[in-house]
Amino acid sequence: MSVIFLDRQAWGADAIPYRLGGRDDPRPGKRDIALSERLGSVNHHTVSVDPDTSPNVWENVAEVKANARRIQQARPDLGGGFLDVPYNFLGYLMTDASVTICEGRGWVRSGAHTAGKGRDGQYLNITQLATSWGGNFEDNRLDISPWLPAINEWHHRQKQMAPKLQTITGHQDWAFASDLNRTACPGHSIYTRLREFSFEPPEEDDMDEVARKAIEELKVADNGLRTLLAAVGQHTRDNRALLKAAYDDHLALKQRVAEHIARQGEEPNLPDDQANAQLWREVQERIAEHEAKFAKIAEAVGGGA
Ligand SMILES: [Zn+2]
Repeated sequence: MSVIFLDRQAWGADAIPYRLGGRDDPRPGKRDIALSERLGSVNHHTVSVDPDTSPNVWENVAEVKANARRIQQARPDLGGGFLDVPYNFLGYLMTDASVTICEGRGWVRSGAHTAGKGRDGQYLNITQLATSWGGNFEDNRLDISPWLPAINEWHHRQKQMAPKLQTITGHQDWAFASDLNRTACPGHSIYTRLREFSFEPPEEDDMDEVARKAIEELKVADNGLRTLLAAVGQHTRDNRALLKAAYDDHLALKQRVAEHIARQGEEPNLPDDQANAQLWREVQERIAEHEAKFAKIAEAVGGGA
């Protein structure tokens, strides 16, 4: 499980004359919001889908960045004439069951996402931190089970930042506050699972799934290499073909690992990333060992790889 966080610079937000909903917003009555004023986390969906066969699942960071930029442009009516993301955060369900979070209004600015006042008389755009999930979870049903660990890790991080967070809701839960909240948002596939959303810290044993798989693959490849190494000297031509296939697999794995590490680099340095970092060092060490073995085999069979 993992959560990748992209701040506005990382996803390429357009520079705007001022950020909305904070002390730098020139409209009257705007101020920074203290984290202690945040009482709940409200979930929305953006209705803006990924234009392929999996409209609520995002294949790579480039797609996410492009969509975040589109959302920034989409609702001028929500920003007093200025364009910005009306939510505190955008969330994207990624193919590998991680989630990518893009900073919208962010932690200290009010949003333009949930109309009216709660039962405590406070504006919901102040008390609620809104995460809007990329896609249309009403018209395109999706079993979000694979993403629940990452979604909950994100909720846990919100709670770490804003310790007074108590409730996890969906936009439509606030229908009593305003007719604008009479909506299908955040869509059936999310709304029906909200009871499983949690601020609880993630389980201790959840090593990064991708790294775990990479290590398994490396172990299998390692056995194959040992066999190859033992057989070097006999049937040299066959060995060369085997070696070529093994090396191609190795290169593909190495590429995947490099991409994953590049994405991890965009995460903020949070304490719970340390276990991941350790794991990835192990993957890199194993890759280095493989390189050495390949070199040895290549030498023995006369330059196969
Ligand atoms: Zn909504």
